[in-house]
Amino acid sequence: MRGNVFVRYGLPLLVALPITFLVLYPQVFWCLMVGSSANFRLFTNGTTSLYIHRTVSAKQQLQFRQHTQAAFDRIRRFWGDRRGQAILIYCPAQSDYERYCAGGEGAGCSVGTPWGTSYLILGPEGNNTNVIAHELCHDELFTRIGWWRVKRQIPQWFNEGLALMVDYRFSNPAVWEQPDRSEQTPSFSEENTTLPFPQRPLLKLTELETTRDFFGGDYVHTMLAYQTAADEVARWLAVVGRAGVPALTDAIHAGQEFEETYRQLERTKRKSLNQKKKTKKAE
Ligand SMILES: [Zn+2]
Repeated sequence: MRGNVFVRYGLPLLVALPITFLVLYPQVFWCLMVGSSANFRLFTNGTTSLYIHRTVSAKQQLQFRQHTQAAFDRIRRFWGDRRGQAILIYCPAQSDYERYCAGGEGAGCSVGTPWGTSYLILGPEGNNTNVIAHELCHDELFTRIGWWRVKRQIPQWFNEGLALMVDYRFSNPAVWEQPDRSEQTPSFSEENTTLPFPQRPLLKLTELETTRDFFGGDYVHTMLAYQTAADEVARWLAVVGRAGVPALTDAIHAGQEFEETYRQLERTKRKSLNQKKKTKKAE
């Protein structure tokens, strides 16, 4: 009897669920199938797989691999180490990019799955260290605290603001990185071109909690959302320092709430800075 119930209801459900998921999110299906697509060539960087579309020129391919390496190095400096294992897919044509990244907006996007595999898709404008580092930073957060916690606990302004700290189109490397020669003399001309922000009052963080809040408006709204997020995370980072980022994700991974931990790290750091100042005055 039980066996019959399973065959009649359980089995069709088991088959239907993944199919429904893939129908609702076709980009996940295409990402899962990239390994067997004849349109992509597979390269590796350490343990990371890079799928590069066969239509890319030799020059684009070389640049992509150099930008990827530079982005990996930046992520290691920012987080202390790199734990993300996302699969990178580079589509130089918009039509391919749209297939792998729903909507095909922006220069790059991340596709995460509840079972842990994630894909970073780079479009025609995505052959760039800033874009790759930005997407890798989203993946790093996803890897360290998990898909579910990112969806449930992390406000979109923090997720984007953090990614903007390694995306120098929107932020200044001096916020967390000691200036060094390699950053001052980038090898590619499109680097370090800060995008102009539109002149409109900044938004409130409470208006930027969800993906819809953040990306649901017009272009000017999204740019203002980016600026608001970058300003807040840069302000916080200037107080807590680079070590505050893994400290925050470790605490969330251990079960702490985002909001309280974010504020607590800042309070603790301010207290110890004030203490140091007082001691110095007393000397
Ligand atoms: Zn982003």
